[in-house]
Amino acid sequence: MVDYKGSCDCGQVNYSIADKPIFTQACHCKDCKKSTGSSFVIHSTVHEDDLTINGKVDSTELSTGSGTGRRVFFCTNCGTYLYCKYKIVESQRIVAIRSKTLNDSDKFPPQAHIFVKDKDPWVNLTDTKNCFDLMYDREKIWPEQSIKKLEEKNNQ
Ligand SMILES: [Zn+2]
Ligand SMILES: [Zn+2]
Repeated sequence: MVDYKGSCDCGQVNYSIADKPIFTQACHCKDCKKSTGSSFVIHSTVHEDDLTINGKVDSTELSTGSGTGRRVFFCTNCGTYLYCKYKIVESQRIVAIRSKTLNDSDKFPPQAHIFVKDKDPWVNLTDTKNCFDLMYDREKIWPEQSIKKLEEKNNQ
């Protein structure tokens, strides 16, 4: 297994993930635009057990379109938002890492784009089969091994 590393902008917080992300996706919803200050967020899904954080993070609760909310974690020094936990998938112990805080983020381009209905018109996506107006059905879109891995992790 390979270890992937990431950090915040100031470097006070470092983290590693024990395996490659389960799935990486971009979200174009209005909440993600606000919290990134940009056109979309890119999140890589990892299992809680695979994530090790070194350094001081704080967290706060923010809303989601579905109304269930999410807890976001950020560096206490520079405020870089490193990862979040969506309440809706809490029982699956999923963590959404902000992909571009990974040192090797280029290895993990988005495998799907969600909330494309809110996409900025000047963002041109070419691979339209990976685009979804809202959300997708995980069973149909995630590679089989990703679904299996998550199941195995949660049945340990
Ligand atoms: Zn920092
Ligand atoms: Zn979003």
